[in-house]
Amino acid sequence: GGLLYVVATPIGNLDDLSERALQVLSKVDLVAAEDTRHTGRLLQHLGLSKQMIALHDHNERGRVAKILEVLGEGRQVALVSDAGTPLISDPGYIVVREVRAAGFPVSPIPGPCALVAALSVAGLPTDRFLFAGFLPAKGSGRRSALTELSAETATLVFYESPHRITDLMADLVTVFGAERECVLGRELTKTFETFYAGSAEAVLAQLQGDPHGARGEFVVMVHGAAPLPAGEGASLDTDKLLGLLIKELP
Ligand code: SAM
Repeated sequence: GGLLYVVATPIGNLDDLSERALQVLSKVDLVAAEDTRHTGRLLQHLGLSKQMIALHDHNERGRVAKILEVLGEGRQVALVSDAGTPLISDPGYIVVREVRAAGFPVSPIPGPCALVAALSVAGLPTDRFLFAGFLPAKGSGRRSALTELSAETATLVFYESPHRITDLMADLVTVFGAERECVLGRELTKTFETFYAGSAEAVLAQLQGDPHGARGEFVVMVHGAAPLPAGEGASLDTDKLLGLLIKELP
């Protein structure tokens, strides 16, 4: 019967495509891709030729009908994005939601994901982490998003593009303080895979000092804030405080 596979593809090194991903891409009747030209090159590399439809953020709803039609004929569909795991800062959420709602099974073919790969080698706590995807592109929006996260105790993970990475690191220094521990993973699984680690200030300096520093794709990881000592912050006695303030009123 109809079945939708959500298939992870490489984030750089093509050898990271799993055996199962290859099997599934070989057998499905339709590939729903973020960018058909990009996925076309991957399929060609794998020696496959498939019917494809383009699926990006702007037309996702419209494409659901086509995918449901194919599934309704008892055929199988693979959903892929340009790199890594679909739906992780990539399109596919609406399709998956609608396909599930229509009663068809959705099955993951797990594989590369930049945030998981980066966290696995950063040496930052991974018991609790908060993936915040891409922050707002504009400086003021980005700084207010960071301010909201500045007391978060879980490890923070962001995605960033090469032209904004230096600005993001500068904002991290401003909002989280120069000493906050950061790890940057750049060009994971690719030839120029690099990691920058240290205080926010030191990482910014390393990035600025490296002639290739701001090239490529980045995962930015930040150590969580130190928890507030017991008796402060969350456990603040608001009743007592209000009582004291009221006494001060004329
Ligand atoms: N779905 C993808 C995944 O599973 O990681 C993420 C897609 S998102 C549109 C692209 C962003 O992921 C890039 O801007 C970068 O922040 C991060 N990214 C993807 N590939 C990467 C790589 N090889 N090295 C470092 N970061 C990468």
